[in-house]
Amino acid sequence: MMKKERIGIYGGTFSPPHVGHHCALSAFLQQERLDHVYVIPTLQPPHKPLQGDASPQQRLAMCRLAFADLPITVSDIEIKRGGKSYTVLTLEELKREDNTLVLLCGSDMFLSIDRWYRPERIFALAEIVYVQREGGEHAEQVAQALAAQAMRLQQQYGAVTRPLACRAIEISSTMLRQELAQGNETSFLSPSVKEYIDQCQLYT
Ligand code: ATP
Repeated sequence: MMKKERIGIYGGTFSPPHVGHHCALSAFLQQERLDHVYVIPTLQPPHKPLQGDASPQQRLAMCRLAFADLPITVSDIEIKRGGKSYTVLTLEELKREDNTLVLLCGSDMFLSIDRWYRPERIFALAEIVYVQREGGEHAEQVAQALAAQAMRLQQQYGAVTRPLACRAIEISSTMLRQELAQGNETSFLSPSVKEYIDQCQLYT
């Protein structure tokens, strides 16, 4: 039998993409033996209103800059499709008989994934790899919550999930937008993304 292609998928708002995203994506590439990886900026996230003033095209451009050094493809399929960016629709679009889909998500997403649209179908279409965002004093508590969620998803849906080994970087795009709005320097953005943000006067 032919070996199935392994397709990695990393979705998000990426407004803006930051070092936390980059670190998780690098570990994903290193640990999951993937043949192709698609970074897919959402058009409208179903679970949160769009924040900040970057357009979909600008978020695509920032992803291309932020992950330029990694062997990934930034895809506009959710932006092109229009409407709410349900992950299940993207998985349906990418799934083939001869591939395995592997979806990367951070702890916040993993802990809420069973409340997304059609979770049973998501777990039938893809394996889930989750990465812990929280370090410091909450690290242990979050690690336990993630393990409990993995167990629950396995029992309830037969979901295939596993953790990604990656050092936690406690940064979010929300925090970055606040720093940028205040004109503060940050080391959590790649220089190319920072330059793009300055040029386009985003998040002012
Ligand atoms: P916002 O603050 O605007 O909600 P965010 O920083 O959470 O944004 P998203 O674009 O929503 O970023 O995240 C896309 C994916 O990357 C999600 O699965 C999220 O959990 C994950 N992620 C975000 N930040 C980190 C981080 N610091 N470390 C690991 N994964 C992260």
